[in-house]
Amino acid sequence: MSDTGDKKPLGLRAPGARPGSVKQSFSHGRTKNVVVETKSRKRVVAAPPPSAPAGTATRAAAILGDPARRPAGISDAELERRMKALAVARAREAEEAQRRAQEEAEREAERQRKLAELAQREAEEAARAEEARRKAEEEERRAAIAARKAAVQAAPAAPAAVEERRAGAAPSPSPRKTDRERMGRDLDKAARPARPGREGEERRGGKLTLAQALDAEGRQRSLAAMRRKQERARQKGAGQEPREKVVRDVQIPEAITVGELAQRMAERVADVIKALMRMGVMATQNQTIDADTAELIVEEFGHRVSRVSAADVEHAIDTVEDRPEDLRPRPPVITIMGHVDHGKTSLLDAIRKTNVVAGEAGGITQHIGAYQVTTDSGAVLTFLDTPGHAAFTSMRARGAQVTDIVVLVVAADDAVMPQTVEAISHAKAAGVPMIVAINKIDKPDADPNKVRTDLLQHEVVVEKMSGDVQDVEVSAKTGQGLDDLLEAIALQAEILELKANPDRAARGAVIEAKLDVGRGPVATVLVQNGTLRQGDVFVVGEKWGKVRALLNDRGERVTEAGPSVPVEVLGLNGTPEAGDTLDVVETEAQAREIADYRERLARETRAAAGAATTLEQLMARARADKDVAELPVVVKADVQGSAEAIVQALEKVGNDEVRVRVLHSGVGAITESDVGLAEASKAPVIGFNVRANAPARAAAGQKGVEIRYYSIIYDLVDDIRAAASGLLKDEVREKFIGYARILEVFKVSGVGRVAGCLVTEGVARKSAGVRLLRDNVVVHEGTLKTLQRFKDQVQEVQSGQECGMAFDNYDDIRQGDVIEIFERETVARAL
Ligand code: GDP
Repeated sequence: MSDTGDKKPLGLRAPGARPGSVKQSFSHGRTKNVVVETKSRKRVVAAPPPSAPAGTATRAAAILGDPARRPAGISDAELERRMKALAVARAREAEEAQRRAQEEAEREAERQRKLAELAQREAEEAARAEEARRKAEEEERRAAIAARKAAVQAAPAAPAAVEERRAGAAPSPSPRKTDRERMGRDLDKAARPARPGREGEERRGGKLTLAQALDAEGRQRSLAAMRRKQERARQKGAGQEPREKVVRDVQIPEAITVGELAQRMAERVADVIKALMRMGVMATQNQTIDADTAELIVEEFGHRVSRVSAADVEHAIDTVEDRPEDLRPRPPVITIMGHVDHGKTSLLDAIRKTNVVAGEAGGITQHIGAYQVTTDSGAVLTFLDTPGHAAFTSMRARGAQVTDIVVLVVAADDAVMPQTVEAISHAKAAGVPMIVAINKIDKPDADPNKVRTDLLQHEVVVEKMSGDVQDVEVSAKTGQGLDDLLEAIALQAEILELKANPDRAARGAVIEAKLDVGRGPVATVLVQNGTLRQGDVFVVGEKWGKVRALLNDRGERVTEAGPSVPVEVLGLNGTPEAGDTLDVVETEAQAREIADYRERLARETRAAAGAATTLEQLMARARADKDVAELPVVVKADVQGSAEAIVQALEKVGNDEVRVRVLHSGVGAITESDVGLAEASKAPVIGFNVRANAPARAAAGQKGVEIRYYSIIYDLVDDIRAAASGLLKDEVREKFIGYARILEVFKVSGVGRVAGCLVTEGVARKSAGVRLLRDNVVVHEGTLKTLQRFKDQVQEVQSGQECGMAFDNYDDIRQGDVIEIFERETVARAL
């Protein structure tokens, strides 16, 4: 300091006295300011004792910096000295903090490395577990525990102290914790800034090395495993060794619920859920897990796995091949295809009318989706009366190929049209022989030869053109050629040598299915093999039932139906879908089991296609089990066919939570009684190509019943789906926004117990919901009363920062607890 005091900036000092200088007086009245080397002196006087921790200095600074709180009797000079000393201390502290931050970053990197290592270790362990027998592994573990115990006793004092602290923080390693979580906690602890008094010790202990961490980890895990085993042993009765437990063969299907799995292993559900948690799978008792996960669990519990495939579950279905000597000829099943307006429906009607003996008892025709006729020569033919290739293809897509012969209708006054070509392709793709019916031959402009030559272009060579495809000229209007057509079909059937075994359990295909108001679910089944009898127990698609009654195509009750016979089946537990296969089984239990299995599989497939099974979905499903919202509707349509189609389409709208319920469906104008019914159930009335009559309109206006008119089924279904979506409850999603760890617990008068926390992840927000976790068990859920940073109330604290938290109406907080901070959002859903 060579400059004179004149240049020094002046502070609030006593006049004449300059800081750091002494006024010297000489003879002759001269004076001189001598700079005193105050630096070292000040340091000696005012620097805090080396043993004083830096953190304390800061706190002291905070107090002394406040003039109001300055202790009495301290002179300015003294204060100044102290302030400078504190400044130095602060600088040091800053340095310290920087160093610590660096260390922390290093630790974090190390922690990541270790976690990665641990993950790898876990993977290796899983692989090992699969190879080694459980017994051997147990032995190994026991040996390891013994060795480690010895190691603990022999361990030097300092690491032991560290251990003690660690043990103190985790008094009882809970079996619920995953290894990774426990690892993370320990490492968090290591990474936590040291508190006064601990710093030295921590430093002496040095950084946690990988080996140390892993060693500690291994020890804790094994202890936890030991405890788990002991607990299990205790529960199983005194003196029983867990290793002596019964090893079971556990059958695992493609998907199994946690509860069912526990039952099959004869283990407690809670233990299975814990084991799943250790594998990182959060599952409830009713949640379905896949076969691979289930297999790991079964192995973990020391049982033997036997995987069951879909075929095994369905073993009850008789699939034995028929012996040739058991086979008997059966009628052919015929589908009529062709371009629109070429006369498919007319032809089906004409065939039916001419061949159902008039005046026969019960001779009124019933539309059940198929009918049988007998030709003059005595051959029986079964016609599917849903013409067109859409039904044919959709059935085939569902694995039900029921058609033996296709009759291709082409109008003689027209030509081969796009749908004619499509029909040809479909028949060829299915490998089904064709017979060409050249229709409308009665028309003056009919030109059957044009049809024949047109067909050549599509590789259909009819007999008249020296090919092998039979062709018959017919008129649905006059009935001309119909018998020829039937004989041609009978001939084709003979060539095909269609056979089936009537003396076995029936198998059939659903041609049509509906929910009948009076009779319940009704399915028209075309028996393909065996004989279906009244009283038979069957499974059909995802449904099952017991045949209560069988009705033939004339609406007559029959006791049995053999091969190629279409019958209406009553006694189902639900409405199956067209194309579903019906199989007769021996017992109701078998039928139910198979149906349940198929339904579960279908649900799982749907869930998998939509999204992974989340906890939210499960919660939603659980809720749905309890209350299903219903959207009731009344449907009136112009024809029965449309009404049925609408009802079927509407029944498909919805999910586990919401469904559309058709209160009534009928044909004709909307009447007052429809409106009355709708009003009683607060339902809208839907008119498809029909209108409300005047009294109904008046009643609807009075009672506030909504009437909607449609002429397109898709529009109708879309609107109803949108309405049903409105009934869906908003989905509440939870979002974790942060985690904090309680480092210390203080008692603050007026507030109660306050947790001194470190936000370890994300952010802590005052407005958010909080859960208090102790050993990964939720002990409290609620909201925050205070969130403060130092003395200030704040709305948010970021990760890595310390803060104070107090809970609303909850006081039992402890050091080491973890606070989970989450927010909820509601999301509107749609079907
Ligand atoms: P689809 O659309 O193929 O089912 O055809 P339809 O059976 O509905 O018949 C369409 C139209 O052709 C109707 O107006 C029938 O009356 C008429 N039609 C059907 N077959 C014949 C026939 O053999 N001769 C005449 N003249 N008209 C027919």
